[in-house]
Amino acid sequence: MKILVTNDDGVHSQALWALVKELKNFSRVVVVAPDREQSAIGTAVTLRHILRAKQIEPVVAGIETYSIEGTPSDSIFLALGKLVKGKIDMVISGINQGLNLGEDTHISGTVAAALQGYLHGLPSFAISADCKNGQNMSTAARVAAILAKKIATYTPRPKIFLNINLPDLPLSKIGGVRITRLDSESHINSVDERHDGRQKYYWLVRQKADKTTEAETDVWAIERGDISITPLQYHQDNKLPENFLDSLCSELLQELKK
Ligand code: MN
Repeated sequence: MKILVTNDDGVHSQALWALVKELKNFSRVVVVAPDREQSAIGTAVTLRHILRAKQIEPVVAGIETYSIEGTPSDSIFLALGKLVKGKIDMVISGINQGLNLGEDTHISGTVAAALQGYLHGLPSFAISADCKNGQNMSTAARVAAILAKKIATYTPRPKIFLNINLPDLPLSKIGGVRITRLDSESHINSVDERHDGRQKYYWLVRQKADKTTEAETDVWAIERGDISITPLQYHQDNKLPENFLDSLCSELLQELKK
């Protein structure tokens, strides 16, 4: 099995390499990711400029790694269309340092890269963690590994596109795993106007929305201290294997608590 890893925080992100370390225990891994941070770049694809790719020294020894002067989606196109020789079995985007929840999911470069993997016919998921201090990142890496192993047991591979988020909690404090839908909330909801002495300028600002969170949503799960798994695949004919998500939830928790 060969897993393609990308992200939108850039190829040098510590959280991407925490994920790679965990995945390489059971799979071949190739990293193709943007050369710099591209958070909130959404599904952007570069069509009017050239794209450059450079094979670079990996942080984890032995991992074929490319740095892309482009977006997360560009990285998937280049990886699958040119750079990576041989078959890719799965795309994992992350670990994003910061959550991708609610309607903000639609502007996430992390989620967009997983979408591109899915559109190329590969099982794909995005994984994000609220790991401010970095201590809980290893739990997210383990979640990704358990999930990847589970997906790999299916033939043919299920056509999945999942958005996974973890609360900033140690494993012992995580309550459960929830299958959720996207909350109808965007955190980028105000514009801050300032003045630099000569002219005005603006910041788009993230603020927690002042509303009650709807039950069974991704925001709700995170607020409860649970792991949130939101299926994002669109097409009716892309039905998941029966009980896939339910068994995923219970197996994931069992494995984590081992
Ligand atoms: Mn990011």
